[in-house]
Amino acid sequence: MKITFLGTGTSQGIPIIGSKHPVCLSEDPRDKRLRVSVLIEWDNYCYVVDCGPDFRQQMLSNAVEKIDGILFTHEHSDHTAGLDDIRPFFFRQGDIDLYAHQRVFKELKKRFDYIFTTENKYPGAPSVDAHVITNTPFNIGNIEVVPINGQHFKLQVFGFRFQDFAYLTDMKTVEEEEIEKLKGVKVLVINALRKEPHISHFNLDEALDFINKIKPERAYLTHISHLLGFHETVQNELPNNVFLAYDNLQITIQ
Ligand SMILES: [Zn+2]
Ligand SMILES: [Zn+2]
Repeated sequence: MKITFLGTGTSQGIPIIGSKHPVCLSEDPRDKRLRVSVLIEWDNYCYVVDCGPDFRQQMLSNAVEKIDGILFTHEHSDHTAGLDDIRPFFFRQGDIDLYAHQRVFKELKKRFDYIFTTENKYPGAPSVDAHVITNTPFNIGNIEVVPINGQHFKLQVFGFRFQDFAYLTDMKTVEEEEIEKLKGVKVLVINALRKEPHISHFNLDEALDFINKIKPERAYLTHISHLLGFHETVQNELPNNVFLAYDNLQITIQ
């Protein structure tokens, strides 16, 4: 399985428009973070988790030619706003498979009604095949995906386990029984916003505690704010098996 970090930034991305913060002005490419998303490939399958406002740019910079589907963690715009840009995939492949909680589809239908409508559809509008998911395993391609239920302040969010790989973002609280589902995972991705606490996101200490409970071989931090600091500085402060993810980083899981 090959994982490509398409974006590793929090909702505004880094740099923030107009910001003079030193991290926003950094010339280290690892300090430039698009909105959070990940590409997962195995055999001939290719799936994306979330589809934020940088989706088009992310597909272009990684030369993605086809996608088999998009899984949504939740409905926030930094995870969904790029949905219109599935059009090139739709024109070549037909309806695109989407996987999300029923509530997320309700939100997507409000924002992208022209995608979901079946009557008098504009000819250039893309179509999708909406798969409503609950907190039970489901199949994509030839593998099973295990949803991991969490809370993002008061909003329910899904993380996903794909065999030995798990991807969780925008988590603030995760129940013990959900953490159990992550045991034995080799590579874990988890959100770490900044060092200061935040009402709806793990800060760095909370993310490290979470990693400690699961004890994966390797963990990668994502959904990063400029306030966390420079990539290089923060990376040097982390335990040996914990890494700050950065845009376009690729990892493989045997
Ligand atoms: Zn987010
Ligand atoms: Zn969010």
